[in-house]
Amino acid sequence: MTEIERHSYDVVVIGAGGAGLRAAIEARLQGKKTAIISKSLFGKAHTVMAEGGAAAAMGNVNPNDNWQVHFRDTMRGGKFLNNWRMAELHAKEAPDRVWELEHWGALFDRTKDGKISQRNFGGHEYPRLAHVGDRTGLELIRTAQQKIVALQQEDHRDHGDYDARLKVWAETTVTRLLLDGDRISGVFAYVRETGKFVVFEAPAVVLATGGIGKAFKVTSNSWEYTGDGHALALLAGATLLNMEFVQFHPTGMVWPPSVKGILVTESVRGDRGILKNSDGKRFMFDYIPEVFKAQYATTEEEGDRWYDDPDNNRRPPELLPRDEVARAINSEVKANRGSPHGGVFLTVVDRMPGGAEEIKRRLPAMHHQFKELADVDITKEPMEVGPTCHYVMGGVEVDPDTGAALVPGLFAAGECSGGMHGSNRLGGNSLTDLLVFGRRAGLGAAEYVDALADRPAVSAEEVEAASAEALEPFDRTGGENPYTVHQELQQTMNDLVGIIRKEGELEQALQSLDKLRARVANVAVEGGRGYHPGWHLALDLRNMLLVSECIAKAALERQESRGGHTRDDHPAMSADWRKVNLVCRLVGDPADPRVELKRQPLEPMREDLITLFENDELKKYLTEEELPVSAAAEE
Ligand code: FAD
Repeated sequence: MTEIERHSYDVVVIGAGGAGLRAAIEARLQGKKTAIISKSLFGKAHTVMAEGGAAAAMGNVNPNDNWQVHFRDTMRGGKFLNNWRMAELHAKEAPDRVWELEHWGALFDRTKDGKISQRNFGGHEYPRLAHVGDRTGLELIRTAQQKIVALQQEDHRDHGDYDARLKVWAETTVTRLLLDGDRISGVFAYVRETGKFVVFEAPAVVLATGGIGKAFKVTSNSWEYTGDGHALALLAGATLLNMEFVQFHPTGMVWPPSVKGILVTESVRGDRGILKNSDGKRFMFDYIPEVFKAQYATTEEEGDRWYDDPDNNRRPPELLPRDEVARAINSEVKANRGSPHGGVFLTVVDRMPGGAEEIKRRLPAMHHQFKELADVDITKEPMEVGPTCHYVMGGVEVDPDTGAALVPGLFAAGECSGGMHGSNRLGGNSLTDLLVFGRRAGLGAAEYVDALADRPAVSAEEVEAASAEALEPFDRTGGENPYTVHQELQQTMNDLVGIIRKEGELEQALQSLDKLRARVANVAVEGGRGYHPGWHLALDLRNMLLVSECIAKAALERQESRGGHTRDDHPAMSADWRKVNLVCRLVGDPADPRVELKRQPLEPMREDLITLFENDELKKYLTEEELPVSAAAEE
């Protein structure tokens, strides 16, 4: 076997986005020797792309905001399928995590009286997104990195070594979690630049690998979103929750083709942007669903008044949750009322009191993006936009308080974990999710290590098997090109498991994925191991295929439409299905495992939380027997 480098840590965090960095900071603050492993360059995690802001009920712009209102909005956005304990922890702890970030040096935009400014976003009752222009994720990452450097300086002072207790392994990709019996014992990784293998021994591993967007053809996600954490968890014996819920952001660029899918932030709509079809009609007023009728304006005049007087008017329907807006755009395009390149029009022209200058000040990145990529000046012309695969609500099933997965020693946080957002995530809730649950997972991992009687050991056989698996694409002769197989996988997911789903198409998708399994197992690459993107993709394909199978299976099973899962053949939301979580695990031959899907009951919401909602609202989501006695009695 080739020589393999070995390192030993207490906690290994896979991923250097917001969730990973926050988890690593916490593990280090708890005194644990911690490694951060990141497939991309340090600082180039997906989190840097987050534009709109971080949702936290600080009440800086509207003092009526508080954790209870945020909790209600999150549950409504997720159509009551959220893990309510996670939604509760998130709503309660998000303000502290944002203030903590400020304490560590983040420079948020301010209100006139000097507080952290908060902006409107879809599904949030009050202005709630703490932001830095439209570059909030970048500031989050910059601040977390600054905190890490400060901790490393402390370690240098105390131990003479910056990396003594917190080290970053950038451009290093984990391909396997290692187990001692059923417990985590470490991870197996390769260094992208050299192709060399590294084993990290550690009793606790935090997955913070982000999403799965690269399994779809049109996506706002970048190259590293290949569902690695999801697949690593499955392969180690953990479970994935509700993978059918994939968020298609309503506004991705549709033109030119080279940039199709790139995100147009929701802040455009939060900052007075409106959607129009080819007839010039502001069509969202035709798409307000029954469950949201009470909270949304029914006339353009009322919707427009809301920006300046939110207490006496209802919000415009452009700010409905993302799933509603994405479906509405899809319907307009299908009805031949779309824009020339297959989207609809989004415009801020003449919408801001400060005119073009205000547009450039409030939306600098969007102004730049459209000018550079599409030669469109958004101060003068509308943008063309359409749905793009953006976020996965499904993910590793975890304990809400500690982030612990089913496998002892395995933790998950951020986009790769499941439960928090139910069937649909509200914009802005991810950045605070990363901070709240990143911290909790780091803490959970540290406490787990403290409680261990003995450290698990990494076995030579497991390392040998992981090494052989990683080298297989080089050993095959006459195998397929990984790029061809990837394109077919993406096309299958886009065409058959996309924004609107049907039984027949989902069955067809599963058959196609079954055929792709053999082809993924037969991809081949040539050449050396140093910086070899084809080889990297060959290894990522295993992960994308696994998550795609989970998504398609769960989408076929759930016979209702809810949040990020729309079934053309089952268009209604069903109170009976709301009580069901769909859980995937791997079964069968470990060398060629199959995805098994099971229904699992959702835990009923705690009494004090359920009473935060009006009975009339609860009746829209819950079954008769789930309703509190008072609500049922009103019938
Ligand atoms: P990431 O930030 O993606 O980090 C994942 C990390 O894992 C990376 O470092 C990656 O290299 C690493 N990794 C992956 N696989 C491996 C592996 N096998 N081995 C080693 N490392 C690995 N949310 C909001 O709340 N507000 C917003 O305004 C907002 N805007 C967005 C705009 C865009 C364009 C996009 C795409 C998303 C936006 N989101 C927003 C969503 C939010 O940014 C993401 O959900 C969030 O940043 C995910 O953070 P994370 O820490 O879970 O993962």
